[in-house]
Amino acid sequence: MIFKLGHSINQQVNLLDNKEIELFIKREDEIHPFVSGNKYRKLKYNLHEAKKKGFKTLLTFGGAFSNHIAAVASAGHLLGFKTIGVIRGEELENKISDNDTLSFAKQNGMAFKFVSRELYRDKTSQAFLDKLKDAFNDFYLIPEGGTNTLAVKGCEEILTKEDETFDYICCAVGTGGTISGLINCSKLGQQVLGFPALKGDFLRQDISKFVTKTNWDLVTDYHFGGYAKINEELVSFINQFKNRYAIPLDPVYTGKMMFGIFDLINKGYFKKGSKILAIHTGGLQGIKGMNSVLKNKNLAIIE
Ligand SMILES: *Cc1c(COP(=O)(O)O)cnc(C)c1O
Repeated sequence: MIFKLGHSINQQVNLLDNKEIELFIKREDEIHPFVSGNKYRKLKYNLHEAKKKGFKTLLTFGGAFSNHIAAVASAGHLLGFKTIGVIRGEELENKISDNDTLSFAKQNGMAFKFVSRELYRDKTSQAFLDKLKDAFNDFYLIPEGGTNTLAVKGCEEILTKEDETFDYICCAVGTGGTISGLINCSKLGQQVLGFPALKGDFLRQDISKFVTKTNWDLVTDYHFGGYAKINEELVSFINQFKNRYAIPLDPVYTGKMMFGIFDLINKGYFKKGSKILAIHTGGLQGIKGMNSVLKNKNLAIIE
């Protein structure tokens, strides 16, 4: 990749009231300010492939606050691809300037096609894709959330040799691409725990398509009511975590995962002496948008 990347280090999170567990967080959010965390990992081989095959345009899908949309727009801009975002929700068409993620994507040259929720649900149908081909000619298609085989391959590079000493690898789960890569590169004896950021039983099947190992599980108690749903307890946890450790968490994914890890530690879920590595998958661009929503509801915001 020809744009400059930062370092992803393992930072210790000192558990002041628990000396029996060691917790580290892998700062994948520091890889790049906009193509951050797992979105960089998931795009890496897809962008190589698009370039190799001579595509000039990337097309992908996402919602109004999507980290993936922001990452594709930024990476496309940096690497000289045109980008098209098919966005869920027709009503957003006239509200781009009110939405931080879409404004950012637009500044990075992304063109949008806004579609109704019904059409969006149908976005993988051949009829819909044919219509997009008619409208935009040739493009390299990146699925919603960026998950495909090449994305999983990129996520297999998150763990390094030094991470082999961890007993648990934890990550937030959206479409399951990131955890699939982590499972594939995990070692025998390591347990990979995914914390879904949304409700739904389809995830286990989706992940099973990409992995053959069985050393993983999903902890489904920390979705906070569904995708991008949050409450005051979560906001307050994210703010306390940042005050204590100087590490920002995002409200949609990493905040929920870390809340879950802390809760499980308090409940004695991890065996004594365990070393846990939590993956900070990034997503910090989403804080601004979430804060607009919180402000409108007169609720405390993420600091
Ligand atoms: C997209 C995203 C995820 C989910 O990744 P999947 O590969 O879709 O499971 C997790 N964390 C952050 C910060 C994300 O932006």
